[in-house]
Amino acid sequence: MEFRIEAQLGAARAGRLITPHGEVETPVFMPVGTLASVKGVPQETLEELGTQILLANTYHLYLRPGAEQLRQLGGLHRFMAWKRPLLTDSGGFQVFSLSQLRKVSDQGVEFRSHLDGSSHFFTPEKSIDVQRALGADIIMAFDECTEYPADRERARHSLEMTARWAERSKRHFESKKSGTNNEKLETENSQTLFGIVQGGMYADLRQESAQRTVEIGFPGYAIGGLSVGEPRALTEEVLSAALPLLPADKPRYVMGVGTPEEIVNYALMGVDMMDCVLPTRAARHGLLYTSQGKVNIKNAIYAKDEGPLDPQCGCRVCARYSRAYLRHLYTSGELLAPSLNTIHNLAFYLDTMRSLRHSIKLGVSARAAQ
Ligand SMILES: [Zn+2]
Repeated sequence: MEFRIEAQLGAARAGRLITPHGEVETPVFMPVGTLASVKGVPQETLEELGTQILLANTYHLYLRPGAEQLRQLGGLHRFMAWKRPLLTDSGGFQVFSLSQLRKVSDQGVEFRSHLDGSSHFFTPEKSIDVQRALGADIIMAFDECTEYPADRERARHSLEMTARWAERSKRHFESKKSGTNNEKLETENSQTLFGIVQGGMYADLRQESAQRTVEIGFPGYAIGGLSVGEPRALTEEVLSAALPLLPADKPRYVMGVGTPEEIVNYALMGVDMMDCVLPTRAARHGLLYTSQGKVNIKNAIYAKDEGPLDPQCGCRVCARYSRAYLRHLYTSGELLAPSLNTIHNLAFYLDTMRSLRHSIKLGVSARAAQ
């Protein structure tokens, strides 16, 4: 993988990630396809919307359909018929948030599946092996996501564990990559491993975590453990502390954020990649983001509203359907409702980032012309 910065405006960067499955213009928003699907939206529509890269969740895919099955089916790209870039998380966040934890030790995490209660053991090595089987272009080091609130001692402990796990993730990834195993898939050799910064909501611990992760050395860095219930001002404080310590020439990824305002704000702070379930999850609950603010489509005021959901939006939903119809679909529980709502919300997020990239580039050329 290669990362090129093409323009800068203040701290913000417009760049290009070059992956084995194509290029990704940054700053980028990555829709979440938890189980190898963005709920309710077919892959061809995601392409039409200009989705450049999708995120899939290792924990979920490991449990169902299973890593070995996915490997035999040729990896995630082939399985889900998605030819563009993919990123998988390490499974850490879901192991800690969804499963019933049995035991967390330095070695790894023993947990019970949220699906059937079966026992599993995840280690940094196991996470890398599963992510190799999935074959995403970008994969993540196994980390412990610190819950909020967490006291300093707890955040410090979590940071230490994440640093040791990052080293093990990298060592295992490198050893597999340089191995001479003939059964290795083509995609496995072209994967890129990112490290993750933790440290709870303590600016100094975040800085320490950033320094230590950079010392281990990765081609890209994520900041994890944000948007876990903390106030927004704190998210920003933690980001401001950690971002300057990450190498300027490497991609920076903030995991699990945010609202349209937040993703713009973080991109302006110098973040290159973000993902969040917010646009897709909110859409399924009838909450739609528009250029005129948030629309709750189940509201009775839209019952006779023949206008488009967002007059500024060029998506296929806004081009064709009225607010009255979208409200009717939602209140009738039609399957089309979550699908159309999700398509619009993703269009709004992707357009927001597209125009931001444009502004960053224009800002630079405007300054250069002066
Ligand atoms: Zn739209």
